[in-house]
Amino acid sequence: MSTIKITSIVLAIAVAAILPTLWPNPYYIHLMVVIGIYAILLLGLDIVVGYVGEVSLGHAALFGIGAYTAGVLNFQLGVPFLLAVPVSIAVTGLFGAILALPALRVNGPYLAMVTLAFGTIIQILINEMTFLTNGPLGLSVRKPIWFSHQVTGTDYYYIVLLSLVLALLVVQRILKSHLGRAFEALHDSPIASDCMGVSVYAYKVYAFVLSAGLAGLAGSLFTYSEEYISPNSYNFELTILFLLAVIMGGRKSRTGPILGAIIVVMLPNVLSDIDLFRKISTGIAVVAIAYSAYMISVRLRSFKQVTIPVLVTGALAVSGYVMDNITDQRLTIFGVMILFVVYYLPNGIMGFLRSIVMKVRPQWVHRHTVILEQGDKQHIWSVPDHPVTAQGYLLEARNIVMQFGGLKALNEVNLAIAKNTVHGLIGPNGSGKSTMMNVLTGIYKPTSGEIQFNGKIITGTTPSSIAGEGIARTFQNVQLFGEMTAIENVLVGLHHTFRHSLIDVVFHTPRCLKEKHAAEIRAASLLQFVGLSDLANDEARNLPYGKQRLLEIARALALNPSLLLLDEPAAGLTAPDIKELIVMINKIRGHGISVILIEHHMDVVMSICDTVTVLDFGQKIAEGNPATVQSNEKVIEAYLGGSAKAE
Ligand code: ADP
Ligand code: MG
Repeated sequence: MSTIKITSIVLAIAVAAILPTLWPNPYYIHLMVVIGIYAILLLGLDIVVGYVGEVSLGHAALFGIGAYTAGVLNFQLGVPFLLAVPVSIAVTGLFGAILALPALRVNGPYLAMVTLAFGTIIQILINEMTFLTNGPLGLSVRKPIWFSHQVTGTDYYYIVLLSLVLALLVVQRILKSHLGRAFEALHDSPIASDCMGVSVYAYKVYAFVLSAGLAGLAGSLFTYSEEYISPNSYNFELTILFLLAVIMGGRKSRTGPILGAIIVVMLPNVLSDIDLFRKISTGIAVVAIAYSAYMISVRLRSFKQVTIPVLVTGALAVSGYVMDNITDQRLTIFGVMILFVVYYLPNGIMGFLRSIVMKVRPQWVHRHTVILEQGDKQHIWSVPDHPVTAQGYLLEARNIVMQFGGLKALNEVNLAIAKNTVHGLIGPNGSGKSTMMNVLTGIYKPTSGEIQFNGKIITGTTPSSIAGEGIARTFQNVQLFGEMTAIENVLVGLHHTFRHSLIDVVFHTPRCLKEKHAAEIRAASLLQFVGLSDLANDEARNLPYGKQRLLEIARALALNPSLLLLDEPAAGLTAPDIKELIVMINKIRGHGISVILIEHHMDVVMSICDTVTVLDFGQKIAEGNPATVQSNEKVIEAYLGGSAKAE
């Protein structure tokens, strides 16, 4: 971490620590406590919303579960604070797992609906289970008494501050580890995650459990802060407020949730105090005008693009001076602000600030420069290599049928891949080549037939376990993790090399640091192998198409596969790049990795394949060495002749 970052974090904590002395008003101290509690919850919600990319409408309910677990434990059983809080975290984490179960089947809006139903059910249960929760009457608890000292509001502020700092540290470490990368990866491309051995389902559940644990911590802290809880506090409105806070603050950041919490807690206050509203809205308008003027002067924005934001922020500021009283317009102003943020700052306030930093100081985000220099050939291939002299078949697919409705995309296809060879799979468009790859990697379960890999039957197992067995692949339509940098993409491929646990991640144990360092060096070496070292810190979605294909190969090699499936790797590559690719594939074979190559560039196929299989309308029509296949009548008719005619 840079010294600037560390200094600002220490400063922020110091300021937070002296705030109660500067501002000893119990009302404000209570507001800051609520901000701290919400920030803890939002850090967790950001894991689900920002990283995994699912909308959860169940977080108010999780917050309620945390609050009620602590409340019931304290009220009914007299369990002390220091035990009630961890138990609440565990219980809420468990509910997080239950909430994540539907994620096995549904995602997107459907999962959002399920989480909404979960929220409603929990609220009803809290209301109805009177024997535990006291129903609508609610529960009263007292702040703890420690060493015959009654914890006061100010003491409690420090307890919450400490909890927030610890939560921030834990979440930061998790999200910067291989776990955080897994969460991000499954958001960007679930299919590619699975094929890199990162089980989408397992990590979704993981993310929900972590997120719920934080909601549990926040909920239990809330119980002791309010000293009274009732079912109505954990309603739909609160859930929406939490989501808004994450979106406004900015997803995928640690400061975003804190900012979001400040906004949603302070906004009702700002919107009830006309003087405060005038000051803040004027401030925002000045920033908006200055920023727009700057953007126009450097020609990054046109007059037209900045008109509306300037007008809206200006109008808000002016409206503050026109109105004598703000209470009646509160909801309208709130609505305008939400629309404004969602439309103009889709990545929230932190996302906006980050984009400015990126323009001024891009080197701040180049975290891997040192490691990149250490990448070399030695680290590309895992030690020991796969035995180069091996005999026999690595993979055998027998009588594969893949039916989509009435269409047999594959019809009784047999495919045997000898060890240490490059096996070409060719055929006209729509002949079933990509379908074959999807069947081999477990994305499709074949209608009938059997696949044996390394002596094991793999038919019917999941893509992530097939990846774990040693089959890696690229995709015909590139499936990178777009929001992650090139090197991070490769690091996802190296996920299997991380054996350390959550505890190691949180405490940065030597084991964790060692594995991390080794993986980063290997990732750098793999990037060097495909010639992408210079682009290591660029986001994958910003790379040229041809480079994206090469990055996919590096990521697939990271899996340390014994079989590599390449689906049209030369598509979109320039002629010199294709030459490089041929050299690369030969090198890959040289290290004992077998390759299945789907390719339309005949020169590539003919120059490197040991065996070629030809598919047409889902059926195998020819197989043999490239020269024999090329002169086969049926092949010329179906494929080569077809394309010759087309030309
Ligand atoms: P190729 O890669 O050889 O160009 P594909 O394997 O992509 O061909 O497709 C083979 C046939 O299977 C095509 O007719 C395609 O429309 C069909 N197909 C592939 N995937 C699906 C699917 N998920 N659902 C329905 N039809 C599919
Ligand atoms: Mg295809």
